Amino acid sequence: MNADTSKPLLIGGEWLRSSAPPLVSVNPATGATNYEVHTATAEQVEQAVLSATQAAAQASWRGMQPPQRAAVLHRIGELMLRDAETFAELQRIENGKVHAECMVQVRSAAATFRYYASVCETLESALTPSRGNYLSMAVYEPYGVVVAITPWNSPMTMEAQKVAPALAAGNAVILKPSELTPSPALLLGRIALEAGLPPGLLNVLPGTGAAVGSALVAHAGVKMVSFTGGTASGRRIAVVAAQKLMPVALELGGKSPHIVFADADLDAAADAVAGGIFEGSGQSCVAGSRLFVQRSVYEAFIEKLLAKARGLKVGLPDRPESKMGPIASFAHRQHIAGMVDAARAAGAEVLTGGGAPEDEALSAGAFYLPTVVAGISNRSDIAQNEIFGPVVCAMVFDDEDDLIAQANDSVFGLASGIWTRDFPRAWRVARALEAGTVWINTYKQLSIATPFGGFKDSGLGREKGTGGMRLYQQAKGIYFGLGG
Ligand code: NAD
Repeated sequence: MNADTSKPLLIGGEWLRSSAPPLVSVNPATGATNYEVHTATAEQVEQAVLSATQAAAQASWRGMQPPQRAAVLHRIGELMLRDAETFAELQRIENGKVHAECMVQVRSAAATFRYYASVCETLESALTPSRGNYLSMAVYEPYGVVVAITPWNSPMTMEAQKVAPALAAGNAVILKPSELTPSPALLLGRIALEAGLPPGLLNVLPGTGAAVGSALVAHAGVKMVSFTGGTASGRRIAVVAAQKLMPVALELGGKSPHIVFADADLDAAADAVAGGIFEGSGQSCVAGSRLFVQRSVYEAFIEKLLAKARGLKVGLPDRPESKMGPIASFAHRQHIAGMVDAARAAGAEVLTGGGAPEDEALSAGAFYLPTVVAGISNRSDIAQNEIFGPVVCAMVFDDEDDLIAQANDSVFGLASGIWTRDFPRAWRVARALEAGTVWINTYKQLSIATPFGGFKDSGLGREKGTGGMRLYQQAKGIYFGLGG
Protein backbone atom coordinates (compact mmCIF):
# COMPACT_ATOMS: atom_id res chain seq x y z
CA MET A 1 0.00 0.00 0.00
CA ASN A 2 1.31 3.43 -1.00
CA ALA A 3 1.39 6.25 1.57
CA ASP A 4 -0.06 8.58 -1.09
CA THR A 5 -3.33 6.68 -1.02
CA SER A 6 -3.60 6.74 2.76
CA LYS A 7 -5.77 8.93 4.98
CA PRO A 8 -4.50 12.48 5.55
CA LEU A 9 -4.49 14.34 8.86
CA LEU A 10 -6.33 17.57 9.69
CA ILE A 11 -4.64 20.84 10.65
CA GLY A 12 -6.22 24.29 10.39
CA GLY A 13 -9.05 22.98 8.22
CA GLU A 14 -6.60 21.49 5.67
CA TRP A 15 -6.13 17.80 4.94
CA LEU A 16 -2.38 17.16 4.92
CA ARG A 17 -0.05 14.33 3.99
CA SER A 18 3.13 13.68 5.88
CA SER A 19 6.60 12.24 5.48
CA ALA A 20 6.46 10.37 8.83
CA PRO A 21 5.95 6.58 8.80
CA PRO A 22 2.20 5.88 8.39
CA LEU A 23 0.06 3.80 10.72
CA VAL A 24 -1.03 0.55 9.14
CA SER A 25 -4.58 -0.25 10.17
CA VAL A 26 -5.32 -3.99 10.49
CA ASN A 27 -8.78 -5.54 10.88
CA PRO A 28 -8.49 -7.73 14.01
CA ALA A 29 -11.36 -9.95 12.89
CA THR A 30 -9.58 -11.08 9.72
CA GLY A 31 -5.95 -9.99 9.93
CA ALA A 32 -6.41 -8.08 6.65
CA THR A 33 -4.88 -4.62 6.18
CA ASN A 34 -7.55 -1.91 6.10
CA TYR A 35 -5.51 1.11 4.93
CA GLU A 36 -2.66 3.37 5.98
CA VAL A 37 -3.05 6.63 7.85
CA HIS A 38 -0.66 9.57 7.78
CA THR A 39 0.95 10.45 11.11
CA ALA A 40 2.07 13.92 12.13
CA THR A 41 5.71 14.94 11.81
CA ALA A 42 7.37 17.14 14.46
CA GLU A 43 6.82 20.14 12.15
CA GLN A 44 3.13 19.28 11.83
CA VAL A 45 2.81 19.15 15.61
CA GLU A 46 4.19 22.73 15.65
CA GLN A 47 1.84 23.71 12.85
CA ALA A 48 -1.18 22.25 14.67
CA VAL A 49 -0.38 24.06 17.93
CA LEU A 50 0.08 27.33 16.04
CA SER A 51 -3.13 26.87 14.11
CA ALA A 52 -5.09 25.97 17.27
CA THR A 53 -3.58 28.91 19.17
CA GLN A 54 -4.64 31.34 16.46
CA ALA A 55 -8.10 29.80 16.16
CA ALA A 56 -8.66 29.92 19.94
CA ALA A 57 -7.65 33.59 20.06
CA GLN A 58 -9.90 34.73 17.21
CA ALA A 59 -12.44 37.31 18.31
CA SER A 60 -15.07 35.46 16.27
CA TRP A 61 -14.64 32.35 18.48
CA ARG A 62 -13.86 33.98 21.82
CA GLY A 63 -16.74 36.39 21.38
CA MET A 64 -19.20 33.87 19.95
CA GLN A 65 -22.34 33.87 22.04
CA PRO A 66 -23.25 30.54 23.71
CA PRO A 67 -26.37 29.93 21.55
CA GLN A 68 -24.28 30.21 18.37
CA ARG A 69 -21.59 27.91 19.73
CA ALA A 70 -24.32 25.50 20.85
CA ALA A 71 -25.81 25.52 17.34
CA VAL A 72 -22.50 24.27 15.90
CA LEU A 73 -22.31 21.49 18.51
CA HIS A 74 -25.93 20.48 17.77
CA ARG A 75 -25.13 20.31 14.08
CA ILE A 76 -22.09 18.07 14.75
CA GLY A 77 -24.37 15.71 16.71
CA GLU A 78 -26.90 15.65 13.84
CA LEU A 79 -24.22 14.93 11.25
CA MET A 80 -22.81 12.13 13.40
CA LEU A 81 -26.23 10.49 13.33
CA ARG A 82 -26.48 11.01 9.57
CA ASP A 83 -23.12 9.22 9.19
CA ALA A 84 -23.69 6.72 12.02
CA GLU A 85 -23.26 3.65 9.81
CA THR A 86 -19.91 4.94 8.48
CA PHE A 87 -18.66 5.76 11.99
CA ALA A 88 -19.75 2.32 13.20
CA GLU A 89 -18.05 0.55 10.33
CA LEU A 90 -14.78 2.44 10.83
CA GLN A 91 -14.72 1.52 14.51
CA ARG A 92 -15.68 -2.08 13.76
CA ILE A 93 -12.92 -2.69 11.22
CA GLU A 94 -10.32 -0.99 13.42
CA ASN A 95 -11.08 -2.43 16.88
CA GLY A 96 -13.38 -5.36 16.11
CA LYS A 97 -16.39 -4.37 18.23
CA VAL A 98 -19.65 -5.94 17.09
CA HIS A 99 -21.79 -3.73 14.87
CA ALA A 100 -24.65 -3.30 17.38
CA GLU A 101 -22.25 -1.98 20.05
CA CYS A 102 -20.62 0.38 17.54
CA MET A 103 -24.05 1.80 16.68
CA VAL A 104 -24.89 2.31 20.37
CA GLN A 105 -21.59 4.13 20.80
CA VAL A 106 -21.98 6.47 17.82
CA ARG A 107 -25.48 7.43 19.03
CA SER A 108 -24.07 8.03 22.49
CA ALA A 109 -21.29 10.22 21.02
CA ALA A 110 -23.86 12.28 19.06
CA ALA A 111 -25.93 12.67 22.25
CA THR A 112 -22.81 13.96 24.02
CA PHE A 113 -22.52 16.80 21.49
CA ARG A 114 -26.21 17.63 22.00
CA TYR A 115 -25.79 17.53 25.79
CA TYR A 116 -22.82 19.92 25.78
CA ALA A 117 -24.67 22.22 23.37
CA SER A 118 -27.32 22.50 26.08
CA VAL A 119 -24.77 22.93 28.87
CA CYS A 120 -23.03 25.64 26.84
CA GLU A 121 -26.30 27.57 26.51
CA THR A 122 -27.56 27.14 30.06
CA LEU A 123 -24.65 26.95 32.50
CA GLU A 124 -24.57 30.17 34.54
CA SER A 125 -21.75 32.21 36.00
CA ALA A 126 -22.30 33.37 39.59
CA LEU A 127 -22.57 36.54 41.58
CA THR A 128 -20.76 35.74 44.82
CA PRO A 129 -21.93 37.13 48.23
CA SER A 130 -20.75 40.71 48.49
CA ARG A 131 -18.54 41.80 51.43
CA GLY A 132 -18.41 45.53 50.61
CA ASN A 133 -19.53 48.17 48.18
CA TYR A 134 -18.74 46.12 45.10
CA LEU A 135 -20.18 43.32 43.06
CA SER A 136 -18.09 40.17 43.05
CA MET A 137 -18.55 37.41 40.57
CA ALA A 138 -17.05 34.22 39.18
CA VAL A 139 -16.72 33.90 35.44
CA TYR A 140 -15.06 31.10 33.48
CA GLU A 141 -12.46 31.42 30.72
CA PRO A 142 -11.17 28.76 28.31
CA TYR A 143 -7.56 27.57 28.60
CA GLY A 144 -6.81 28.12 24.90
CA VAL A 145 -5.34 24.99 23.30
CA VAL A 146 -6.53 21.69 24.76
CA VAL A 147 -5.01 18.36 23.71
CA ALA A 148 -7.32 15.33 23.86
CA ILE A 149 -5.63 11.90 23.80
CA THR A 150 -7.80 8.79 23.46
CA PRO A 151 -7.52 4.97 23.63
CA TRP A 152 -8.71 2.36 21.13
CA ASN A 153 -11.46 0.56 23.01
CA SER A 154 -14.26 3.14 22.65
CA PRO A 155 -12.81 5.95 20.52
CA MET A 156 -16.06 7.64 19.46
CA THR A 157 -17.53 8.03 22.93
CA MET A 158 -14.21 9.06 24.52
CA GLU A 159 -13.54 11.61 21.77
CA ALA A 160 -17.02 13.14 22.03
CA GLN A 161 -16.65 13.24 25.82
CA LYS A 162 -13.56 15.44 25.45
CA VAL A 163 -14.06 17.41 22.23
CA ALA A 164 -17.68 18.50 22.88
CA PRO A 165 -17.14 20.07 26.34
CA ALA A 166 -13.74 21.53 25.41
CA LEU A 167 -15.28 23.33 22.41
CA ALA A 168 -18.37 24.30 24.42
CA ALA A 169 -15.98 25.88 26.92
CA GLY A 170 -14.42 28.03 24.19
CA ASN A 171 -11.12 26.22 23.56
CA ALA A 172 -9.45 24.94 20.40
CA VAL A 173 -8.76 21.19 20.43
CA ILE A 174 -5.99 19.00 19.05
CA LEU A 175 -7.22 15.41 19.06
CA LYS A 176 -4.61 12.61 19.11
CA PRO A 177 -6.48 9.33 18.60
CA SER A 178 -5.04 5.90 19.37
CA GLU A 179 -2.68 4.26 16.89
CA LEU A 180 -5.27 1.48 16.44
CA THR A 181 -8.35 3.65 15.86
CA PRO A 182 -7.53 6.87 14.01
CA SER A 183 -10.46 6.92 11.56
CA PRO A 184 -13.48 7.87 13.69
CA ALA A 185 -11.51 10.93 14.88
CA LEU A 186 -10.69 11.92 11.28
CA LEU A 187 -14.37 11.59 10.33
CA LEU A 188 -15.32 13.71 13.36
CA GLY A 189 -12.89 16.38 12.10
CA ARG A 190 -14.52 16.31 8.67
CA ILE A 191 -18.01 16.58 10.14
CA ALA A 192 -17.02 19.46 12.43
CA LEU A 193 -15.90 21.47 9.40
CA GLU A 194 -19.13 20.64 7.58
CA ALA A 195 -21.08 21.73 10.66
CA GLY A 196 -19.49 25.16 10.44
CA LEU A 197 -16.83 24.90 13.15
CA PRO A 198 -14.20 27.46 12.11
CA PRO A 199 -10.96 25.84 10.80
CA GLY A 200 -8.24 25.26 13.39
CA LEU A 201 -10.64 24.69 16.29
CA LEU A 202 -10.51 20.93 15.86
CA ASN A 203 -7.26 19.44 14.52
CA VAL A 204 -6.80 15.68 14.28
CA LEU A 205 -3.25 14.30 14.50
CA PRO A 206 -2.88 10.53 14.28
CA GLY A 207 0.45 9.12 15.42
CA THR A 208 2.08 7.16 18.18
CA GLY A 209 1.99 8.20 21.83
CA ALA A 210 5.78 8.22 21.92
CA ALA A 211 6.15 10.59 18.96
CA VAL A 212 3.00 12.70 18.50
CA GLY A 213 1.29 12.34 21.91
CA SER A 214 4.32 13.18 24.01
CA ALA A 215 5.35 16.10 21.72
CA LEU A 216 1.89 17.61 22.12
CA VAL A 217 1.84 17.17 25.91
CA ALA A 218 5.27 18.81 26.28
CA HIS A 219 4.53 21.73 23.92
CA ALA A 220 4.54 25.12 25.64
CA GLY A 221 1.55 26.24 23.56
CA VAL A 222 -0.65 23.46 24.92
CA LYS A 223 -2.44 24.65 28.05
CA MET A 224 -4.46 21.63 29.16
CA VAL A 225 -4.45 17.88 28.43
CA SER A 226 -7.39 15.51 28.71
CA PHE A 227 -6.17 11.92 28.56
CA THR A 228 -7.88 8.52 28.60
CA GLY A 229 -5.70 5.44 28.54
CA GLY A 230 -3.51 3.23 30.67
CA THR A 231 -2.26 4.18 34.14
CA ALA A 232 1.43 4.01 33.15
CA SER A 233 0.91 6.44 30.23
CA GLY A 234 -1.20 8.71 32.42
CA ARG A 235 1.51 8.86 35.05
CA ARG A 236 4.11 9.82 32.41
CA ILE A 237 1.85 12.61 31.15
CA ALA A 238 1.25 13.86 34.71
CA VAL A 239 5.02 14.20 35.26
CA VAL A 240 5.38 16.40 32.16
CA ALA A 241 2.29 18.40 33.13
CA ALA A 242 3.73 18.99 36.60
CA GLN A 243 6.85 20.54 35.07
CA LYS A 244 4.69 22.85 32.96
CA LEU A 245 2.23 23.52 35.82
CA MET A 246 -0.47 22.49 33.34
CA PRO A 247 -3.83 21.02 34.41
CA VAL A 248 -4.57 17.47 33.27
CA ALA A 249 -7.61 15.23 33.39
CA LEU A 250 -6.68 11.56 33.55
CA GLU A 251 -9.12 8.67 32.98
CA LEU A 252 -7.04 5.54 33.57
CA GLY A 253 -7.22 1.81 34.11
CA GLY A 254 -9.47 -0.29 36.32
CA LYS A 255 -9.96 -3.65 38.02
CA SER A 256 -13.54 -3.18 39.10
CA PRO A 257 -15.18 -5.42 41.74
CA HIS A 258 -18.58 -6.87 40.83
CA ILE A 259 -20.23 -8.09 44.03
CA VAL A 260 -23.02 -10.65 44.46
CA PHE A 261 -24.61 -11.06 47.91
CA ALA A 262 -26.49 -14.27 48.71
CA ASP A 263 -29.88 -12.50 48.74
CA ALA A 264 -29.47 -11.10 45.20
CA ASP A 265 -31.58 -11.95 42.17
CA LEU A 266 -28.95 -14.42 40.95
CA ASP A 267 -30.25 -14.69 37.38
CA ALA A 268 -30.24 -10.93 36.87
CA ALA A 269 -26.82 -10.73 38.52
CA ALA A 270 -25.39 -13.47 36.28
CA ASP A 271 -26.63 -11.59 33.20
CA ALA A 272 -25.01 -8.38 34.40
CA VAL A 273 -21.75 -10.02 35.49
CA ALA A 274 -21.41 -11.69 32.07
CA GLY A 275 -22.27 -8.46 30.22
CA GLY A 276 -20.03 -6.44 32.51
CA ILE A 277 -16.94 -8.44 31.58
CA PHE A 278 -17.59 -9.96 28.14
CA GLU A 279 -19.21 -7.01 26.33
CA GLY A 280 -16.63 -5.42 24.03
CA SER A 281 -14.45 -8.50 24.71
CA GLY A 282 -13.77 -7.07 28.17
CA GLN A 283 -11.86 -4.15 26.69
CA SER A 284 -13.64 -1.63 28.84
CA CYS A 285 -12.10 0.46 31.60
CA VAL A 286 -15.15 -0.27 33.79
CA ALA A 287 -15.27 -4.02 33.05
CA GLY A 288 -16.28 -5.95 36.18
CA SER A 289 -13.12 -8.04 36.18
CA ARG A 290 -13.04 -9.06 39.87
CA LEU A 291 -16.14 -11.06 40.81
CA PHE A 292 -16.88 -11.46 44.53
CA VAL A 293 -19.66 -13.93 45.40
CA GLN A 294 -20.91 -14.62 48.94
CA ARG A 295 -19.82 -18.10 49.99
CA SER A 296 -23.28 -19.69 50.44
CA VAL A 297 -24.26 -19.04 46.78
CA TYR A 298 -20.82 -19.23 45.18
CA GLU A 299 -21.19 -22.66 43.50
CA ALA A 300 -24.72 -21.96 42.25
CA PHE A 301 -23.76 -18.56 40.90
CA ILE A 302 -20.65 -19.80 39.11
CA GLU A 303 -22.77 -22.46 37.35
CA LYS A 304 -25.05 -19.71 36.05
CA LEU A 305 -22.10 -17.58 34.94
CA LEU A 306 -20.42 -20.50 33.17
CA ALA A 307 -23.64 -21.18 31.26
CA LYS A 308 -23.69 -17.53 30.11
CA ALA A 309 -20.00 -17.55 29.14
CA ARG A 310 -20.30 -20.79 27.17
CA GLY A 311 -23.52 -19.67 25.48
CA LEU A 312 -22.14 -16.33 24.30
CA LYS A 313 -21.86 -16.21 20.50
CA VAL A 314 -18.28 -15.26 19.64
CA GLY A 315 -18.15 -14.34 15.97
CA LEU A 316 -17.28 -11.98 13.16
CA PRO A 317 -18.30 -8.49 14.30
CA ASP A 318 -20.29 -7.68 11.16
CA ARG A 319 -22.67 -10.63 11.74
CA PRO A 320 -25.86 -9.72 13.61
CA GLU A 321 -25.78 -12.96 15.63
CA SER A 322 -22.30 -12.21 17.05
CA LYS A 323 -22.32 -10.94 20.63
CA MET A 324 -18.56 -10.78 21.12
CA GLY A 325 -15.98 -9.89 18.47
CA PRO A 326 -12.21 -10.29 18.49
CA ILE A 327 -9.64 -8.62 20.71
CA ALA A 328 -8.64 -5.26 19.16
CA SER A 329 -5.18 -6.43 18.07
CA PHE A 330 -3.09 -9.58 17.84
CA ALA A 331 -0.52 -8.09 20.25
CA HIS A 332 -3.22 -7.44 22.84
CA ARG A 333 -4.57 -10.99 22.51
CA GLN A 334 -1.07 -12.23 23.24
CA HIS A 335 -0.96 -10.04 26.36
CA ILE A 336 -4.31 -11.47 27.57
CA ALA A 337 -3.29 -15.06 26.83
CA GLY A 338 0.04 -14.49 28.59
CA MET A 339 -1.70 -13.33 31.78
CA VAL A 340 -4.14 -16.26 31.80
CA ASP A 341 -1.37 -18.78 31.09
CA ALA A 342 0.76 -17.33 33.91
CA ALA A 343 -2.17 -17.61 36.34
CA ARG A 344 -2.78 -21.21 35.24
CA ALA A 345 0.90 -22.01 35.80
CA ALA A 346 0.62 -20.48 39.28
CA GLY A 347 -2.25 -22.85 40.16
CA ALA A 348 -5.40 -21.00 39.05
CA GLU A 349 -8.31 -22.99 37.63
CA VAL A 350 -9.57 -21.87 34.23
CA LEU A 351 -13.24 -22.91 34.44
CA THR A 352 -14.06 -21.97 30.85
CA GLY A 353 -12.28 -20.29 27.93
CA GLY A 354 -8.59 -19.62 28.35
CA GLY A 355 -7.78 -19.77 24.63
CA ALA A 356 -8.88 -18.99 21.09
CA PRO A 357 -12.13 -20.47 19.71
CA GLU A 358 -11.83 -23.58 17.54
CA ASP A 359 -14.22 -22.22 14.87
CA GLU A 360 -12.32 -22.29 11.54
CA ALA A 361 -14.12 -19.12 10.35
CA LEU A 362 -12.45 -17.18 13.18
CA SER A 363 -8.94 -18.63 12.86
CA ALA A 364 -7.48 -15.62 11.00
CA GLY A 365 -8.69 -13.14 13.66
CA ALA A 366 -7.51 -12.17 17.14
CA PHE A 367 -10.34 -13.97 18.95
CA TYR A 368 -10.22 -15.11 22.59
CA LEU A 369 -12.98 -16.99 24.39
CA PRO A 370 -14.97 -15.65 27.37
CA THR A 371 -12.90 -16.84 30.31
CA VAL A 372 -13.65 -17.50 33.99
CA VAL A 373 -10.66 -17.99 36.32
CA ALA A 374 -11.13 -19.32 39.88
CA GLY A 375 -9.09 -20.80 42.74
CA ILE A 376 -7.18 -17.54 43.21
CA SER A 377 -6.90 -14.92 45.92
CA ASN A 378 -7.49 -11.22 45.47
CA ARG A 379 -3.74 -10.73 46.08
CA SER A 380 -2.75 -12.86 43.05
CA ASP A 381 -1.27 -11.14 39.98
CA ILE A 382 -4.26 -11.93 37.81
CA ALA A 383 -6.62 -10.32 40.34
CA GLN A 384 -4.45 -7.26 40.88
CA ASN A 385 -3.33 -6.34 37.34
CA GLU A 386 -5.54 -5.01 34.59
CA ILE A 387 -6.01 -7.59 31.80
CA PHE A 388 -8.38 -5.53 29.62
CA GLY A 389 -9.86 -8.65 28.08
CA PRO A 390 -12.78 -11.10 28.49
CA VAL A 391 -11.40 -12.62 31.67
CA VAL A 392 -13.18 -12.55 35.03
CA CYS A 393 -11.49 -13.54 38.31
CA ALA A 394 -14.05 -15.33 40.51
CA MET A 395 -13.53 -15.11 44.28
CA VAL A 396 -15.56 -15.69 47.47
CA PHE A 397 -16.33 -13.52 50.48
CA ASP A 398 -17.90 -14.25 53.83
CA ASP A 399 -19.44 -11.05 55.15
CA GLU A 400 -19.61 -7.33 54.49
CA ASP A 401 -16.35 -6.48 56.27
CA ASP A 402 -14.45 -9.21 54.42
CA LEU A 403 -15.98 -8.05 51.13
CA ILE A 404 -15.09 -4.38 51.58
CA ALA A 405 -11.52 -5.22 52.62
CA GLN A 406 -11.01 -7.39 49.51
CA ALA A 407 -12.83 -5.10 47.07
CA ASN A 408 -10.80 -2.07 48.16
CA ASP A 409 -7.54 -3.99 48.15
CA SER A 410 -6.52 -2.76 44.68
CA VAL A 411 -4.50 0.15 43.35
CA PHE A 412 -7.45 0.91 41.05
CA GLY A 413 -10.74 2.58 41.92
CA LEU A 414 -12.74 3.16 38.75
CA ALA A 415 -16.07 1.34 39.06
CA SER A 416 -17.92 -1.34 41.02
CA GLY A 417 -21.23 -3.20 41.12
CA ILE A 418 -23.39 -4.53 43.97
CA TRP A 419 -26.21 -7.09 43.73
CA THR A 420 -28.43 -7.38 46.82
CA ARG A 421 -32.08 -6.94 47.84
CA ASP A 422 -31.01 -5.40 51.16
CA PHE A 423 -31.08 -1.67 50.39
CA PRO A 424 -29.49 -0.39 53.62
CA ARG A 425 -26.61 -2.77 52.96
CA ALA A 426 -26.37 -1.63 49.33
CA TRP A 427 -26.06 1.96 50.60
CA ARG A 428 -23.43 1.09 53.24
CA VAL A 429 -21.30 -0.86 50.75
CA ALA A 430 -21.69 1.79 48.03
CA ARG A 431 -20.36 4.44 50.40
CA ALA A 432 -17.48 2.25 51.58
CA LEU A 433 -16.23 1.24 48.13
CA GLU A 434 -13.25 3.22 46.85
CA ALA A 435 -14.56 3.70 43.31
CA GLY A 436 -15.63 6.62 41.14
CA THR A 437 -18.81 4.81 40.04
CA VAL A 438 -21.00 2.33 41.96
CA TRP A 439 -23.82 0.45 40.25
CA ILE A 440 -26.51 -1.11 42.48
CA ASN A 441 -28.58 -3.90 40.89
CA THR A 442 -27.43 -2.77 37.44
CA TYR A 443 -24.05 -2.52 35.70
CA LYS A 444 -22.35 -0.42 33.00
CA GLN A 445 -25.26 2.02 32.93
CA LEU A 446 -23.64 5.31 31.92
CA SER A 447 -25.13 8.79 31.67
CA ILE A 448 -23.39 11.80 30.16
CA ALA A 449 -25.10 13.91 32.88
CA THR A 450 -23.36 12.08 35.76
CA PRO A 451 -19.72 12.73 36.79
CA PHE A 452 -17.29 9.98 35.78
CA GLY A 453 -13.71 9.31 36.84
CA GLY A 454 -11.45 7.27 39.03
CA PHE A 455 -10.33 7.04 42.63
CA LYS A 456 -6.68 6.09 43.34
CA ASP A 457 -4.64 4.97 40.29
CA SER A 458 -7.74 5.06 38.09
CA GLY A 459 -7.47 8.77 37.47
CA LEU A 460 -7.56 12.41 38.33
CA GLY A 461 -10.48 14.75 37.67
CA ARG A 462 -14.03 14.06 36.52
CA GLU A 463 -15.49 14.15 33.03
CA LYS A 464 -19.19 14.34 32.06
CA GLY A 465 -21.95 16.39 33.66
CA THR A 466 -21.87 20.17 33.82
CA GLY A 467 -18.50 19.86 35.57
CA GLY A 468 -17.28 18.23 32.37
CA MET A 469 -17.45 21.66 30.71
CA ARG A 470 -15.89 23.47 33.68
CA LEU A 471 -12.98 20.99 33.41
CA TYR A 472 -11.92 22.92 30.31
CA GLN A 473 -12.22 26.38 31.87
CA GLN A 474 -10.48 28.36 34.57
CA ALA A 475 -12.41 30.44 37.08
CA LYS A 476 -11.81 34.16 37.25
CA GLY A 477 -12.99 36.42 40.07
CA ILE A 478 -14.14 39.88 38.99
CA TYR A 479 -14.77 42.73 41.46
CA PHE A 480 -16.88 45.60 40.18
CA GLY A 481 -16.49 48.65 42.43
CA LEU A 482 -19.67 50.60 43.09
CA GLY A 483 -17.89 53.78 44.19
CA GLY A 484 -17.27 55.33 47.59
P1 NAD B 1 -2.42 3.70 26.25
O1 NAD B 1 -2.15 4.41 27.53
O2 NAD B 1 -1.39 2.81 25.69
O3 NAD B 1 -2.72 4.77 25.08
C1 NAD B 1 -3.79 5.71 25.18
C2 NAD B 1 -3.47 6.88 24.29
O4 NAD B 1 -2.35 7.58 24.83
C3 NAD B 1 -3.07 6.52 22.86
O5 NAD B 1 -3.59 7.49 22.00
C4 NAD B 1 -1.54 6.58 22.91
O6 NAD B 1 -0.97 6.84 21.66
C5 NAD B 1 -1.33 7.74 23.86
N1 NAD B 1 -0.07 7.75 24.61
C6 NAD B 1 0.60 6.69 25.14
N2 NAD B 1 1.69 7.12 25.81
C7 NAD B 1 1.70 8.47 25.73
C8 NAD B 1 2.57 9.50 26.22
N3 NAD B 1 3.64 9.21 26.96
N4 NAD B 1 2.27 10.78 25.95
C9 NAD B 1 1.18 11.10 25.23
N5 NAD B 1 0.32 10.18 24.72
C10 NAD B 1 0.58 8.87 24.98
O7 NAD B 1 -3.80 2.96 26.45
P2 NAD B 1 -4.57 2.01 25.43
O8 NAD B 1 -3.85 0.70 25.38
O9 NAD B 1 -4.82 2.74 24.15
O10 NAD B 1 -5.97 1.84 26.16
C11 NAD B 1 -6.20 0.91 27.16
C12 NAD B 1 -6.14 1.55 28.52
O11 NAD B 1 -7.02 2.67 28.58
C13 NAD B 1 -6.59 0.64 29.63
O12 NAD B 1 -5.73 0.74 30.73
C14 NAD B 1 -7.96 1.16 30.00
O13 NAD B 1 -8.38 0.86 31.30
C15 NAD B 1 -7.79 2.61 29.78
N6 NAD B 1 -9.10 3.27 29.58
C16 NAD B 1 -9.57 4.07 30.59
C17 NAD B 1 -10.81 4.66 30.46
C18 NAD B 1 -11.38 5.55 31.55
O14 NAD B 1 -12.31 6.29 31.26
N7 NAD B 1 -10.88 5.50 32.76
C19 NAD B 1 -11.56 4.45 29.31
C20 NAD B 1 -11.05 3.63 28.31
C21 NAD B 1 -9.79 3.04 28.47
